[in-house]
Amino acid sequence: METLRRNLRGILASLPDSIKLVAVSKFHPVEAIRAAYDEGQRIFGESRAAELVAKVKELPDDIQWHFIGHLQTNKVRAVVPHVSLVHSIDSERLLLAVDSEAGRAGRCVDILLQLHVAQEDTKYGFSPQELVGLVSSGIIDRLHNVRVRGVMGMASNTDDTARIETDFRTIKETFDRIKALPVKDKDAFDVISMGMSEDYPLAIKCGSNMVRIGSGIFGNREY
Ligand SMILES: *Cc1c(COP(=O)(O)O)cnc(C)c1O
Repeated sequence: METLRRNLRGILASLPDSIKLVAVSKFHPVEAIRAAYDEGQRIFGESRAAELVAKVKELPDDIQWHFIGHLQTNKVRAVVPHVSLVHSIDSERLLLAVDSEAGRAGRCVDILLQLHVAQEDTKYGFSPQELVGLVSSGIIDRLHNVRVRGVMGMASNTDDTARIETDFRTIKETFDRIKALPVKDKDAFDVISMGMSEDYPLAIKCGSNMVRIGSGIFGNREY
């Protein structure tokens, strides 16, 4: 736990004040989250519904849980009551499902639209053109219980820094294109979630204001 605390302090010290840190705690035990909590960290990211629900029960109420993994529509009902931000809205169907479940739960849920810009096909999300098309279709104006706060994306999993930078710049550019469209609650559209343990300094240079760091804080995950 001492290493964890040192990692977290180091990262927090290196982040500009304007950048939010999501501590990605997936696959790590409640004790590790508690150690980070005791250092003052309040935003934690999880990627599986059952794991999130189990951890919520054991940890303090003032934690802000972010959901960052692929969310199946049949898991939306379990997740919605607990999350303050869903980063991983990757289809119109999921967007509408979260809107309707949030209404049912009597709350408004903040979400990010996930972009797919990486070279791997395994990642989820909209292409930039698809996303601009979707938002232009006026869908955001028809949502009642969801507030669209911005975009999330991942760079290609590669050592090629130029490729990673291109991916981050594409995410930032797509954010700017959407920000320029006439949709409701535009002032709330202000989050660019990009950057993980290996690439977050570059993501920040390219315009990120929310980084999602897991192994850099908690160490390697055992799947
Ligand atoms: C696991 C995960 C992270 C954290 O990755 P690290 O390399 O451990 O920092 C960030 N974002 C998403 C979407 C993830 O699934």
